[in-house]
Amino acid sequence: MNRYFILIAVIFLGCHPGKKFISTKPPQNVILMIGDGMGLTQITAGLYRNGNKLHLERCKSIGLHKNYPEEKSGDLITDSAAGATAFSTGVKTYNAAIGMGPDTLPRTTILELANFSDMATGLIATSTITHATPASFIAHVSTRDKYEEIATWFLKNKFDLIIGGGAKHFSKRKSDTLDLMNRLKSKGVTVESYFDKELENIDFGTPNRLAYFTALDQPLPFSQGRNYLPMATEKGIEFLSSKKNPGFFLLVEGSQIDWGGHSNESEYIISEMIDFDNAVGKALDFAEKDKNTLVIITADHETGGYAIQKGSTMDSIKGKFTSDYHTGTMIPVFAFGPGSEDFQGIYENTDIFHKMLALLRKNKWFKSQK
Ligand code: MG
Ligand code: ZN
Repeated sequence: MNRYFILIAVIFLGCHPGKKFISTKPPQNVILMIGDGMGLTQITAGLYRNGNKLHLERCKSIGLHKNYPEEKSGDLITDSAAGATAFSTGVKTYNAAIGMGPDTLPRTTILELANFSDMATGLIATSTITHATPASFIAHVSTRDKYEEIATWFLKNKFDLIIGGGAKHFSKRKSDTLDLMNRLKSKGVTVESYFDKELENIDFGTPNRLAYFTALDQPLPFSQGRNYLPMATEKGIEFLSSKKNPGFFLLVEGSQIDWGGHSNESEYIISEMIDFDNAVGKALDFAEKDKNTLVIITADHETGGYAIQKGSTMDSIKGKFTSDYHTGTMIPVFAFGPGSEDFQGIYENTDIFHKMLALLRKNKWFKSQK
């Protein structure tokens, strides 16, 4: 009798309409994807050109962030350094700051916190890996143009994977004669480059840590033959998730959507946007199967004051621009996976850091103090 009573009680409690049985399982892995300069018009233009569909539409949790930099700067317009530092450290700072607060003192980044909790970490970009967006996650440098100083942070800080351009900042340095590629190798990093091997021929199964350089300086635009971002995202996720770490943190940047905005070229924006969205598709495919991965897709700011004009069709977008620089409009945030509901609403760009951290802290293995 007792056994039946317990069984009935369990069924009753389990079905009780007043109880919410929502999974509170936190994400083990976080993939943050930044389309640099990707405002709503950039997304819309890419969507129509891509046959009225984007992988981004698979995300059901959508929000907006306010991206102005430190208020004392007296300007509502952020650059990519302050924008990425807001995401990486949760602090609004001055334009050009790389992982530094407004007082020019370093702030701990989400990548450093992930390293401290033994998570695997990675950075993938279609610019140099020393460029403002990826740099703000791994380096602490007063101004973004100190690329060679930024490169030294890839030795001071741990990472498991980097894929991007900028080999010259590591091995053809002007400020000193250091060969940072050799130094990475002596630290156990497998270093490969486009010069010797295409990305599809890189063995991701063997290395413990991997740095793959896609260009000596800036990688080409997609329209001129660069095509590694979706593959790098897919292989990079496979690589990081195969490690025996409690989880992983990966940053993926579609760097050149911004450059299409700066040069006021619709076609440049659209091809970069679709390439970035294909990388988003790879991350969402993994998250769908894995069920322990949070994917967040956003931008640092809009670039170009871009607007779609009358007379446009799905195949032929007529874009006009109000600026050759960044603009101050709010930026959409798309999220998928456990914790994605937290990214609904309107909030500061710095809250993206705080929301990621709050979710990761729900894991017993996450060390919240550094
Ligand atoms: Mg960037
Ligand atoms: Zn820009």
